[in-house]
Amino acid sequence: MTAQIIDGKTAAAALRARVGTLAAQFLADTGRRPGLAVVLVGDDPASAVYVRSKGKATVAAGMESFEHRLPATASQSELIALVDRLNADDAVDGILVQLPLPMGLDADAVIQRIDPDKDVDGFHPMNAGRLATGLHGFVPCTPLGCLMLLRDRLGDLSGLDAVVIGRSNIVGKPMAALLTQASCTVTIAHSRTHNLPHHLARADIVVAAVGIPRFVHGGWIKPGATVIDVGINRTDDGLVGDVDFEGAASIAGAITPVPGGVGPMTIACLLRNTLVAAHRRAGLVLAADAI
Ligand code: NAD
Repeated sequence: MTAQIIDGKTAAAALRARVGTLAAQFLADTGRRPGLAVVLVGDDPASAVYVRSKGKATVAAGMESFEHRLPATASQSELIALVDRLNADDAVDGILVQLPLPMGLDADAVIQRIDPDKDVDGFHPMNAGRLATGLHGFVPCTPLGCLMLLRDRLGDLSGLDAVVIGRSNIVGKPMAALLTQASCTVTIAHSRTHNLPHHLARADIVVAAVGIPRFVHGGWIKPGATVIDVGINRTDDGLVGDVDFEGAASIAGAITPVPGGVGPMTIACLLRNTLVAAHRRAGLVLAADAI
């Protein structure tokens, strides 16, 4: 193996510690803790695990966690009414509705109902638009975490060739927007892309967000490239990413493992976004390089 392993756990712990320090300062300045409300509808076991770990991490960072559970039979209007209450609640700085929602509920309508200034997941079209136009908003947590790992590893990204595999609203599109803002030359590959290996052959940065286990062959990677594997796939061999880790690690310069790479950064970035939301709502300035 030649690649350096990008340790997302350590990077996430450092980010959570910075958030914790600033949350304590926020409490001293305002007399209250930043607050994150998480809404879970139904009893999907994976979603329940995510919600529990988000709640724990929120409290550990010195923030207030508000957990709201609705039954799978909840109606669209009940869910919208809950979002409205959270929008109006001054103790709530960030609102996250855990996806996917049970069948019959319209996730887009719910996301659009969240106050964009409390939309710490960054999924509201207003925040997607802010990201696309270079305005301050909230950036989805997973691509934000990927960008932080890339900056830690590479420093200035300008001029680098980046290929993002996947064009979802949650990962691929915002990732491409962030890399464009960082002055990379960005290619977005997707299910209709012809000859993916041809594109990857010149990629200094590869971000794989496909959802297919070990989809990216090691032989497609440019020697020395930095590979960020967003995939989380449950297989008979356990959790694996979208990249053939062994193959890619023998040729890349650096690579994230699965688990222990991008995953831990996602929750840390959620805490970061909540802290930023709290500061903006309180009219306090948070130095850009503080976090
Ligand atoms: P998605 O299903 O919404 O999008 C997958 C994308 O892959 C699509 O845009 C599609 O065009 C592209 N694709 C499909 N087949 C392809 C092919 N043959 N060649 C090239 N592109 C192809 O998935 P998503 O929500 O973006 O998630 C992607 C992966 O990331 C999943 O494994 C998911 O579990 C994982 N994920 C991880 C985190 C985390 O915190 N680490 C967060 C979100 C998603």
